[in-house]
This record gives sequence, C-alpha cells and structure tokens, in this order.
Amino acid sequence: KKIIIAIDGFSSTGKSTLAKQLAKKLHYVYVDTGAMYRAITLFAMRQGFIADDEIDEISLTESLGEIELKFIFNEDLGFAEMFLNDENVEKEIRTMSVSKNVSQVAVLEAVRKKLVSMQQAMGVEKGIVMDGRDIGTVVFPEAELKIFMTASPEKRAVRRYKELLDRGEDVKYVDILENVQKRDFIDSNRAISPLKRADDAIEFDNSDLGLEDQFQRIYEHSLR
Ligand code: C5P
Repeated sequence: KKIIIAIDGFSSTGKSTLAKQLAKKLHYVYVDTGAMYRAITLFAMRQGFIADDEIDEISLTESLGEIELKFIFNEDLGFAEMFLNDENVEKEIRTMSVSKNVSQVAVLEAVRKKLVSMQQAMGVEKGIVMDGRDIGTVVFPEAELKIFMTASPEKRAVRRYKELLDRGEDVKYVDILENVQKRDFIDSNRAISPLKRADDAIEFDNSDLGLEDQFQRIYEHSLR
C-alpha cells in the first residue's frame, strides 16, 4: 500500500538527500517544498519586492496569482527541477542570496496558503515523499510516516558549505553557519506553522549516523 512520507527538520540536515533516496527506492514521487518557497523568494527579489531585509508584503501578495510553479522530472538528474513561470530556476534558487531572504518570505500567510494547498493537491495520489518544515504538522497531519531530522548547526553548515562550493559559489563558512542558524530561528518562531516536531514523528539526529545506516532505518519504517 502506498503511503505519504513527511520529512521535516532544520535547514541542511540532509532531508532532501534522504527523501530522494527513499523516493527512488520505493518508486515514489519526491517533492521538495523548500524549492517552492525559494522560487517565490526569487520572484519577489526579481520584482524588487525585497530591499534591505524588508519585504513589500502587499505587492507580493497581489502578485501571487502571476506565479506559476512546476516540478519537471529530469531523467539525467533523477529528480524534479523547479520551474518558475516556465523558466528552470533550479540552480538560482539554491544561491546564498535566495537563502538569505527565503525565511522572511515563508512567514507570509498568503504565501503559505498558496503553497500548502498546492502541496496537498500533490498528495492526492499517495506514494509521495515530501520534505519541508510543516509537512507532518500542517500539510499532511495524517501522513503514515513522519520523520523529524536534526543535526548540530556546525555539521549542517559544513554540509551546506560543501554543496555551495561544489556549485562554484564563492561563500564563507561563517556566513553559511550564520544563515543556517538565522533561518532555523525564524522558521521555529514564526506565528504561522512554525517548524516543530509532530508528536508522532520519529526523530533522527543526523550528526553522526552515516547516510547508509540512516537510510536503512527509515526504509525499514516505511515498510511497516
Ligand atoms: O528546505 P530548504 O532549506 O530549501 O527551505 C528553505 C526555506 O523555506 C526554509 O528555511 C523555510 O523558511 C522555508 N520553508 C518553509 N516550509 C516548508 C519548506 C521550506 O517555511 N515546508
């Protein structure tokens, strides 16, 4: 029987790596909800709605209807890429400048409303692994399997640092550590659907567990 698997947790805990692997093994669809918040952030930045940490909430809210988001599966990569109004923005949404603004965009009620309803529509057909911050609590409170991932901020910053270096971005470790901690703070303390572990989620601390072990444990849970 196909189920919904919700993976939540702090930034850069390895949620997406795990979710992708799990989806591949189970022949499920993988949905990265962070990519959706990032794409809206990129749109807002391009429109000039974000300046000096201030967001023009009214303009962004009014423009939400013009934003079309799509995931298109890339056979070569083995996962779906994010398209913003038919443009492939997969690379651009992962840059530090988007990371710096995304959590402020994600607190906005109209933004969350739009994205949560899109995400719920994607789950109508089961057989889905979705990762984010509020999947097990808000998007799919009835999900059959919920995972909550944590890891030390330093481990997470190192992970993100390596990722960005691999992509050729010129970044400093300290800036990344600061960004990861700042996002965790905003994500955990916002008024609407703050990041928190669902009561029935299984918690995984990814600081020391090897990827393989971790995957095996979660995969076993998904078969129960
Ligand atoms: O997962 P990722 O780090 O790409 O998410 C980027 C940001 O998007 C998070 O820091 C958070 O502010 C926001 N987000 C959210 N709810 C989700 C997924 C992401 O608020 N379900």
